[in-house]
Amino acid sequence: MVIGDGAVAAAFAALAPFRTGDRLTVIGPGSAQLGRGLAYADHPPDAPWRDGYLLNSPAGTVDPAFPDWVAERWPEVAARKARHPRGTAFDADAVAAEDHAALFLPRAVFGDYLRDRTDAALAAHHERGVRVTLRPAIVTDLALDRGRFRLTLSDGQQMQADSVDVATGGPAPARFGADTGPAAFEQLYGNEAAIAASLRPDALRPDAEVLCLGANAAMLDVMRLMQCLLPEDRIRMAVLSPSGLLPEPLIWTRPRGAPVTPDLHGPYPDAAAFLAAVDADLAAHRAKGARMAELRRGYRAYLDQVGLAALIPDIDERRRVIGPLDRRFRRGTADSLADFDRLSHAGQIRIIRANVDYVVAGADRTTRVRVTGPEGPSDLSAPIVINCAGPDPQAYELMTAGLIARGWIERIGQGLRVGAGLETRIPGLRYLSPAVTEIGDEVMALPLYDVDRLTTYVRRASRAT
Ligand SMILES: Cc1cc2nc3c(=O)[nH]c(=O)nc-3n(C[C@H](O)[C@H](O)[C@H](O)COP(=O)(O)OP(=O)(O)OC[C@H]3O[C@@H](n4cnc5c(N)ncnc54)[C@H](O)[C@@H]3O)c2cc1C
Repeated sequence: MVIGDGAVAAAFAALAPFRTGDRLTVIGPGSAQLGRGLAYADHPPDAPWRDGYLLNSPAGTVDPAFPDWVAERWPEVAARKARHPRGTAFDADAVAAEDHAALFLPRAVFGDYLRDRTDAALAAHHERGVRVTLRPAIVTDLALDRGRFRLTLSDGQQMQADSVDVATGGPAPARFGADTGPAAFEQLYGNEAAIAASLRPDALRPDAEVLCLGANAAMLDVMRLMQCLLPEDRIRMAVLSPSGLLPEPLIWTRPRGAPVTPDLHGPYPDAAAFLAAVDADLAAHRAKGARMAELRRGYRAYLDQVGLAALIPDIDERRRVIGPLDRRFRRGTADSLADFDRLSHAGQIRIIRANVDYVVAGADRTTRVRVTGPEGPSDLSAPIVINCAGPDPQAYELMTAGLIARGWIERIGQGLRVGAGLETRIPGLRYLSPAVTEIGDEVMALPLYDVDRLTTYVRRASRAT
């Protein structure tokens, strides 16, 4: 049994070693489109924003086989990409060179790719005599019942299973108060039609700003959504961010820049010493012209090869690295960041450096946001407010929260720990989501918000089974 419908659930379903006569049931609200999940969701074909959201890194980094899949369908993919008003604005050179690996492609198109691969894997299971069922439902409870698992579904039905893989996704975005006012959206995804209705020219003053709470990747998606819905000169955004910092674009040049080789000399006594050495090393590589693409690739390969344990022997200190290191390697969609920069310079987008304290209903169907910036507290009011905060490590969805509450999965600091084969404390129950920060002996140096890494860990675990 697999619970979830995203990329990780698809990998569990595709890679598990089944035998003839086995049954595989995948349960998730979008299981008919297994693989897409939240990140690579599709939208109605006539929705102007269907292909608006882009992958956060070039096609070649999300999956090594994706660029070839794109090349085989290029006219169709090019047409999908061109549906966005800025879809052809950035990469004429890469397109002319047929360098599909360097492109930032729509996430919905990557979802098509994941579905293609998953469908092929499920068909192969079927041919081998495995009975495959996709159930469009939510699992509301998972319990142990006389040595087997008992699942309760949102439609009230119960099912039994001998083994269960849980892949229900990462924590939800941080929230800002219970009463979020009449025109505030707890998140962008899934609310696009309502946001589009609020953005209609007859519903919005021409100079009205959309207020984004946070400058996470979702904020760039809000901008891309607005580009689909409004003439560009009508776009007005205010972005609340405590640091005011944005991610750095991950640009694959032609020819590719060589990944850097970190010049670190561990072991380090603690996380602070390690991070200081990383900062000095990054500065040295940047001085020689390296950018995020070369830095990130080099560090990823180095950390995989050397291992964080060899660099920081103390496990408690190792556990302190993940958040700070992630801030040094934040990467974002180059196309979106370039547009963000352009619209900021045109005065259409402004960043306000402040913390959000709370959000309440304001007057005249607006939403009021209390913020605290360098000059102290103040109030902002906007007709549309969208939560674009990063994940709140405490905001686990139902299934993960249940596993933690039962003590079946271990919480470590701000993350979760599973065994080397993704096993939990209960035999037959495996778990993987972007919230996992430790797998077996490995303490993650960088978070698992990365489809390629997640599927790699499922592949390793499935091989070992
Ligand atoms: C908006 C967004 C954009 C992203 N963009 C990128 C990117 O460009 N590149 C990249 O590498 N990574 C990206 N990520 C990171 C992403 O989290 C991973 O790449 C990967 O897609 C995570 O897959 P998942 O299956 O763990 O989670 P999800 O895609 O979140 O899927 C989990 C699914 O489980 C289902 N589910 C939840 N609870 C239950 C339940 N109780 N019963 C049944 N089903 C349930 C949910 O409906 C959900 O669809 C993005 C993430 C988000 C949220």
